[in-house]
Amino acid sequence: MSRRADRCPSPKPRGECPGASSCGHSPDVREETAMHDHRKLGRELDLFDTDPLIGAGLPYWLPDGAAVRHALEEYVRAAERRAGYRHVYSPVLGKRELYEISGHWSHYSDDMFPPMSLGAEQVVLRPSLCPHHALIYRSRSHSHRELPLRMAELGGMYRSELSGVLGGLTRVRAIQLNDAHIFCTPDQVADEAWAALEMIRRAYEALGVAPARYRLSLPGPGGKYVVAPEMWRRSTALLTDVLDRSGLPYEAVEGEAAFYGPKIDVQVADAAGRESTLSTVQVDFHQPEQFDLHYIGADGARHRPVMVHRSVIGSVERAVAHLIEQHGGAFPAWLAPVQVEILPVSEAELPNAEALARRCVDLGLRAEVAGPERGSLGARVRQARLVPYQAVVGAKEAADDHVALRLRDGRRLAPRPADDVLARVRALVDAHSADLWDAAAS
Ligand SMILES: [Zn+2]
Repeated sequence: MSRRADRCPSPKPRGECPGASSCGHSPDVREETAMHDHRKLGRELDLFDTDPLIGAGLPYWLPDGAAVRHALEEYVRAAERRAGYRHVYSPVLGKRELYEISGHWSHYSDDMFPPMSLGAEQVVLRPSLCPHHALIYRSRSHSHRELPLRMAELGGMYRSELSGVLGGLTRVRAIQLNDAHIFCTPDQVADEAWAALEMIRRAYEALGVAPARYRLSLPGPGGKYVVAPEMWRRSTALLTDVLDRSGLPYEAVEGEAAFYGPKIDVQVADAAGRESTLSTVQVDFHQPEQFDLHYIGADGARHRPVMVHRSVIGSVERAVAHLIEQHGGAFPAWLAPVQVEILPVSEAELPNAEALARRCVDLGLRAEVAGPERGSLGARVRQARLVPYQAVVGAKEAADDHVALRLRDGRRLAPRPADDVLARVRALVDAHSADLWDAAAS
């Protein structure tokens, strides 16, 4: 048990700070944060948990964790819509033949759940979304004018991890993946891969996450890769070119490619310095061939598209695990489970505080009231240390419809009209700002 646990015994009230990088605490607390593990924090902050009856590697999300996840998913969907992606839904099951065609069955079956027999056929929990998306593409004819066709889905996939390696949100058996496939001409691959890297860069900025390194993941000796030397040469050359043009430092690592092609992987490091892949951009000539995909070119003939697989935040499980560790639970305001904690000074301001909470909720902000029954004002302020905004309502503020705002970083603002405060908070949340307050506007 860590020293921090001695200081903040669990279970704790909301926001009892388990150490945070941006909550204004002393350096020794920040140092302890580095020792933190998302599994412990996730339970202490009531974000997620597991139950042996559901099973190892199958965490469930508590309401506060679900709020973080929902905000993250909405961010990704909105960014994708702006970047010209269109969303689809596809089922998490597919017939075994589907994965035989895609190549997963021969190259990846060790990581797949055993098939389920349904009468004469067998269905499996999908190990990836690509085959479904390839079939959705194939279901309609496409002109070269529709390309690049960007298809996105936040969908479920499954991996039969051994129970010994499971833990928290980083190694799970049921995965919700932020996935997309871009069907394009070979000439469009570099621009699409470049645009995906740019989306990743912007997302990391909003999330307050720094990549540990960029990795060009190549095939290695002994791996199960599709045999097509010319395809590997072309796709590796394309990704190398994108990385070289981006100016980003990267390392080429053998043995880390997907079975169907090379990848650019964006690596992040956990509290213990262990690296994992969060985001990825991959080039694939193999599955378009396997599924006989085509588009009609300007010459009226059929041509084979290329598939670019890309994920901005990877799986929501791994992304949230990393965010918990990175921020020690003090999430950027747009991700915080509770964004505004409303603190009536006394019982008399409780009705005003509750009315203010309703106004927050009507504006789409996540707010809660912590009344005097939870202790002194000072104690309630401390309990809400992870909440980005604390709105103090005393007798004068209640009478004037004002709010005295305290920011998580320790700043205390002069009372100002409640409408003005809420509008500014809403604007900062909408902008996915890393800043808690727009000093220029105050
Ligand atoms: Zn894919």
